[in-house]
Amino acid sequence: MIIPEKLSNLIHNQLVPPVNQNYINVYNPATGNILAFCPDSSNEDLELALKAAQSAIPIWANTPAEKKFTILNKIADLIDQNRNDLALAESQDQGKPLWLAKNEMIRAAQNFRFFATAALQFASEAHIMENHAVNYTVRQPIGVVACISPWNLPLYLFSWKIAPALAAGNCVIAKPSEITPASAYLLSLLIQESGLPPGVLSILHGTGPGIGQELICHPKIKAISFTGGTATGKHIASVAAPMFKKLSLELGGKNANIIFADAQLDKAVKTTVQSSFLNQGEICLCGSRIYVQNEIYSEFKRLFLEEVAKLTVGDPLNADTRIGAIASESHYHKIMDAIQKAKSDGGHLLYGGQTVQLPPPFDKGWFIQPTIIENLSPTCSAQQEEIFGPVVTLTPFHDEKEVLELANGTSYGLANILWTENIHKANRMALALESGIVWVNCWLLRDLRTPFGGMKQSGIGREGGWEAMRFFTEPKNVCLKINDYES
Ligand code: NDP
Repeated sequence: MIIPEKLSNLIHNQLVPPVNQNYINVYNPATGNILAFCPDSSNEDLELALKAAQSAIPIWANTPAEKKFTILNKIADLIDQNRNDLALAESQDQGKPLWLAKNEMIRAAQNFRFFATAALQFASEAHIMENHAVNYTVRQPIGVVACISPWNLPLYLFSWKIAPALAAGNCVIAKPSEITPASAYLLSLLIQESGLPPGVLSILHGTGPGIGQELICHPKIKAISFTGGTATGKHIASVAAPMFKKLSLELGGKNANIIFADAQLDKAVKTTVQSSFLNQGEICLCGSRIYVQNEIYSEFKRLFLEEVAKLTVGDPLNADTRIGAIASESHYHKIMDAIQKAKSDGGHLLYGGQTVQLPPPFDKGWFIQPTIIENLSPTCSAQQEEIFGPVVTLTPFHDEKEVLELANGTSYGLANILWTENIHKANRMALALESGIVWVNCWLLRDLRTPFGGMKQSGIGREGGWEAMRFFTEPKNVCLKINDYES
């Protein structure tokens, strides 16, 4: 599979150009060159996708679970078979190292495989009122739902939404980020081969304010599953909530990575390098605020800096590269501005902070050194706002009480990481931390059955397992009277 010069939308299982014939430049962030052009879809494309979806609703909703299982599994198999092409496309438009993109494609296939089995296993409840009546709950598909995903983990997050929406029997209109549309385009080709009936899944490319906005406003879209920034989530809620749409919002994070003095230091250092800089730090789950207990602060700092200095920044296609390019020019500037601001707020740059200048063809690419800043107050923007890049802050702490206040002291509440060998402390902290996810002595270890999502300004609702199947269905209670009560 190759990326053509012009990408297409997927409507009624056909690859079609946008009605308005408008396209957006898609860049390769490692070179700054144009990689392709992606449709700048409009309301006219949405109407076509909706027409296709409306006619497919009864077909897909009534497709037996076994058949849904087979089709979703087939999509998973096709992703596996085309893993290298998908990974290459994603490395080229997102900037992530190719080896990482290959790993993420395994997860994209798993998402479809996991929810294929959910389609088979999803069951309803019955509530029996002795021999008087029986209530049973039917969980029906919602109809046409929108799935909107960001640019950081393109197919990984796109499939995480689409798979449960389809497994629950909905028709889906999905919008990937216009910054990273390539793997979603290639998925369109795989959908054509998968046996999914026409109209069940449409993929519309374009901008957030353009086709994204059309999607969230349209009265025929009954539910929106969104992953992206908190400001966008707030805007979507303001539009969709008054229309009584179902909403799942997975938003930003400013996660704490807390390292107690009794932690296994070697493991904590190794994983902290990952949780700080994997995917250029462009993961909502990255631990961007590192808190280290006073007793081991100097030793941790020394070991951490030593490991970070080994990270190679460069060509995403090179197997040795650990940090690739920043996804877009505007995001590159946003990160560099955040570093400048942290310095002017009194931050001491322990490592990095600079653009990485590479020889051609990468001399116009957007590369930033892994960056570690210390000596920042808890209230400054680098400790409060999501930077979403290869930038972490390092702060010492005295005891549990102090670090709990620091960790909970932001408006976000997505994930936190704890390093300690004391199980009681781990439990106490895990229960007191204000976040939807707590990892103890690990990071990014995922079981797809578990609830996934954030508290506070990190979102509303949970994805994963039955939570996702429940979100994508409407429960209805049916009460059947059997007998009158005998007195
Ligand atoms: P954005 O919020 O800018 O965009 C996310 C998606 O929403 C994109 O497809 C975007 O389109 C679209 N969009 C933008 N405006 C609208 C609108 N008015 N109506 C409908 N759709 C719209 O986020 P980013 O793409 O910059 O992604 C980074 C953010 O995502 C970070 O804050 C990160 O923390 C968060 N994130 C959260 C995760 C979680 O699980 N909690 C996981 C991964 C990331 P386009 O880009 O084409 O303009």
